[in-house]
Amino acid sequence: MAIIFEGLSKCVLCGQKLNCVDEITAAPPLTSNTKDPLFVFSDAGMHVACLDGHPLKDSLFYQIEQLDNVTGGAKARCIVDGNLITHPGDMLALGMLTSDLNEPLAAFNFIILNRNNRYRWNRREEFISLAEEFILNAKWEPYGPFDMLKYIMKELA
Ligand SMILES: [Zn+2]
Repeated sequence: MAIIFEGLSKCVLCGQKLNCVDEITAAPPLTSNTKDPLFVFSDAGMHVACLDGHPLKDSLFYQIEQLDNVTGGAKARCIVDGNLITHPGDMLALGMLTSDLNEPLAAFNFIILNRNNRYRWNRREEFISLAEEFILNAKWEPYGPFDMLKYIMKELA
């Protein structure tokens, strides 16, 4: 969750300081894709009033709800065999790939699978080709040196 310093941190929506704790809200890390419309909210603090008036509020809340459904180790089940993933190193979590629900790639948001089952996953090739297309169409631009999407594609190869 975003770390906010009262009176020091700024609202990502209006740029003014976040002063009073009961007027502040925060969004969890959702995406590292700077091209995604929800990137601005990711792991950030903001005024409740600024968020309330924002046109992407519903989209943000929808994605946070999806995220909440998959977080928590007890729910980390592989989409391929339905079994709990007991070794964290085996887990491949796709996370929010895109907040644009019209993107075919959105069907793969928040999928979790055991990397040992990757060749049994019947949508593996479909996912990789959609991800390649997404990158080719310049819809993916990672923030920072770690490229989550390319990492996942490499792990699935
Ligand atoms: Zn604000």
